[in-house]
Amino acid sequence: MSDAANPAALSCPVPLEVTDRVQLGHGSGGKLSAQLVARHFLPHFDNPILSQLGDAAVVGVAGGELAISTDSFVVHPLEFPGGNIGALAVHGTLNDVAMMGARAACLTAGFVLEEGLSLAVLDRVTAAMAQAARDAGVPIVAGDTKVVERGKADGLYINTTGVGAMDSAFRPAPARAQAGDAVLVSAPIARHGMAIMAAREGLSFQSAITSDSACLAPLVDRLRHFGMDVHVLRDATRGGVASALNEIAAASDVGIEIDEAAIPVPGDVRAACELLGLDPLYVANEGVMVVFVAEERAEEALRALRAHALGAGAVRLGRVVAAHARLVALRTALGGTRVVDLLPGDQLPRIC
Ligand code: MG
Repeated sequence: MSDAANPAALSCPVPLEVTDRVQLGHGSGGKLSAQLVARHFLPHFDNPILSQLGDAAVVGVAGGELAISTDSFVVHPLEFPGGNIGALAVHGTLNDVAMMGARAACLTAGFVLEEGLSLAVLDRVTAAMAQAARDAGVPIVAGDTKVVERGKADGLYINTTGVGAMDSAFRPAPARAQAGDAVLVSAPIARHGMAIMAAREGLSFQSAITSDSACLAPLVDRLRHFGMDVHVLRDATRGGVASALNEIAAASDVGIEIDEAAIPVPGDVRAACELLGLDPLYVANEGVMVVFVAEERAEEALRALRAHALGAGAVRLGRVVAAHARLVALRTALGGTRVVDLLPGDQLPRIC
């Protein structure tokens, strides 16, 4: 029996009983998102490229290979400490292209604007978006705008698509994790989600928590010379590190074991998570990736990551194991083990 047919099988908290309507949890990046894609999108759109379910699709064009990724951004609020929806829309899509080992060549941007949106806010969003694209050296080459009536959108939504050239010698992919791989994480986790949460709820912590929103391509370039020894890269966005690891365990049909004591969480972020009852492993990041690399190259890879500002806090998180295929296990500080499952729904809706 599937989880959907048997709500009792879902782990707590279950967001809502199964209904015939879309729920917020369908956008969480967790189990409900996976079900939505598997039941309502893939049966209609399925093809060998889409079914890879990588961060970007790899498409053969005119003798070469392109990585193509598209992403829509609905984050609320539009502006938050450390960024805004415009910069995020550039970083998020460029990161998905970078996770395939591809070098981004161009971006497109589509805007849905709500009647009544402040033009000053729009200008701040587009200025940040343009700056993020310039910083990455990737032009926004096509765009579209639509306007809907007041109340029919929440200020503005942005869709971006990124196109990049694949690298034949450097091809990380979700299905390439192997037993014995080291699992690294490039930076301390959970900043983006907690920055959004604090901005949304008007919470003030002793130090302002800022989003980690950043383009990871320069960090990926640090790993490029490791070639095929980098087995998997994935940016740990919606659903956090826990969801990214679960997706990789499933795609590669391997087990993953992580060490609780190794999980890097900034002190103020940890305090905020504890206050709100959130597990940082499931909180969204926008400038953090997990890296699966052959064990014999792991220390060298860590040094390469740490040599760049975005990877200064890179650590070894765990390992890939032959046991418990498709499960992620956490070794607790007390020596116990627990399963790190996909959440059924949302800790934090509209985070990206
Ligand atoms: Mg991604």
